[in-house]
Amino acid sequence: MEYEAVIGLEVHAQILTESKMFCGCSADYANAAPNTHTCPVCLGLPGALPVLNQRAVELMAMTGRALNCRINHDTYFDRKNYFYVDLPSSYQRSQYQHPLCVAGWVEIETAQGARRIGITRAHMEEDTGKLTHVDGASLVDYNRSGVPLLEIVSEPDLRTPEEARLYCAKMRQLLVWIGVNSGNLEEGAMRFDVNVSVRPKGSSKLGAKVEIKNLNSLRSVERALQYEIKRQIEVLSAGGTIVQETRGWDEDRGVTLSQRSKEYAHDYRYFPDPDLPPLALSDAWIAERDAALPELPDARRRRFEQQYGLPAQDAALLTSERVVADYFEAAVAAAAQHAPKQVANWIIGELFRLLNDSGEALSAVATRLRPEYIRELLDLLREGAITGTTAKQVFEESFRSGQSPAAIVDARGLRQISDSDAVRALAQQAVEANPKVVNDYRSGKSAALKFLVGQVMRLSKGQANPQLAEQALRDILDR
Ligand code: ADP
Ligand code: ZN
Ligand code: MG
Repeated sequence: MEYEAVIGLEVHAQILTESKMFCGCSADYANAAPNTHTCPVCLGLPGALPVLNQRAVELMAMTGRALNCRINHDTYFDRKNYFYVDLPSSYQRSQYQHPLCVAGWVEIETAQGARRIGITRAHMEEDTGKLTHVDGASLVDYNRSGVPLLEIVSEPDLRTPEEARLYCAKMRQLLVWIGVNSGNLEEGAMRFDVNVSVRPKGSSKLGAKVEIKNLNSLRSVERALQYEIKRQIEVLSAGGTIVQETRGWDEDRGVTLSQRSKEYAHDYRYFPDPDLPPLALSDAWIAERDAALPELPDARRRRFEQQYGLPAQDAALLTSERVVADYFEAAVAAAAQHAPKQVANWIIGELFRLLNDSGEALSAVATRLRPEYIRELLDLLREGAITGTTAKQVFEESFRSGQSPAAIVDARGLRQISDSDAVRALAQQAVEANPKVVNDYRSGKSAALKFLVGQVMRLSKGQANPQLAEQALRDILDR
């Protein structure tokens, strides 16, 4: 029998606020000494009262709008009760039952074309502290306790591990784009829980699902699903049944392992947090969030194709990140005399390579490698002042030093000599200095001409236009 997989994703992402969700402690805990960003509220001390972070709500609503969700006007926070050492209050505040954002969608670009994936809900909750296990002891750090998180739950619309990876990549692109998340997966800024079941192909019934929690890279999302789908199909093919459960992903061994049977919502005894008033959001407030959204990546990608006549592939690469798209448009605006495709080529070909080699972010580089520099390079090339090879060297030098291409070309005397009289004078010198090679040429050895062109290039310190040099030599020798 042929099976198909059904996949739904839960994405958790840190909301980029300065302070935590319910207290004034800094939410920037990455490099802080353990337990230095804490107070009675985020340590869960009895009687400490929370105050909701307004910025977190704004960013959450923007996220919802970017995901085409409806924003609920009336929501509140529940307490999700459970005991664990990293949760000092023994409850997590979550909008689980009354999410701010519902019923949206996002598009992913698959090899078979664009696919729309439903978003069930997106809501806010607070993060827990962090446990570290060393030498048989466990250490707890509450710096992360109370940091705002958002959770985005998809409909079970995904069908393959690749689609799941594309979906996660899309979420990352979108959240970074609108300034809600840093996108630093290595630092745990986003985590993915995947839910997967299999069913006979063509069936519309859902099979029992397995949840694999806390995946922290796109690669592990894809690999864990590949493994788990194969495992489930094998169990079913052998006449077994799949039990609903939570499994963990062992990155090193490349397998999923049973962790615990699935808990249900009623286990958590959700109830509204009496310390937090309900949220009442007006239409005007929601409209302000819409207005705060930038042009989103898909729209910008399509506009790049239409407005600048770029191939789909280029438009996708140039809208992978907002800083890249901004840089491209600034460069195009500065280079009005040149085709946008040429500007795109420099960014995709050379700039991406240099960024990749240096490991720097474009946001850091853009202040020295100004977008206008691309126009300067294109001007120099069009005038024939430099060759393509020189242009790449100059661009690299600009990338490193921040000096403008024109300044580098002048300072280093890189201008190509395209003045035919000057090149002819050099050719004459080369001919006079190499009588034997000249004889070889006249007796029919064509390699001799190449040698003489080389001599002209040497005399010009590489700046002569090679075509002109060859022409000048022929003129002199064949005269
Ligand atoms: P739970 O209550 O177990 O958390 P939810 O209904 O909230 O389950 O769904 C969690 C995620 O699992 C969602 O992304 C949803 O799309 C997905 N999901 C639900 N049922 C299935 C299924 N049978 N197979 C695969 N994914 C599923
Ligand atoms: Zn605090
Ligand atoms: Mg759920």
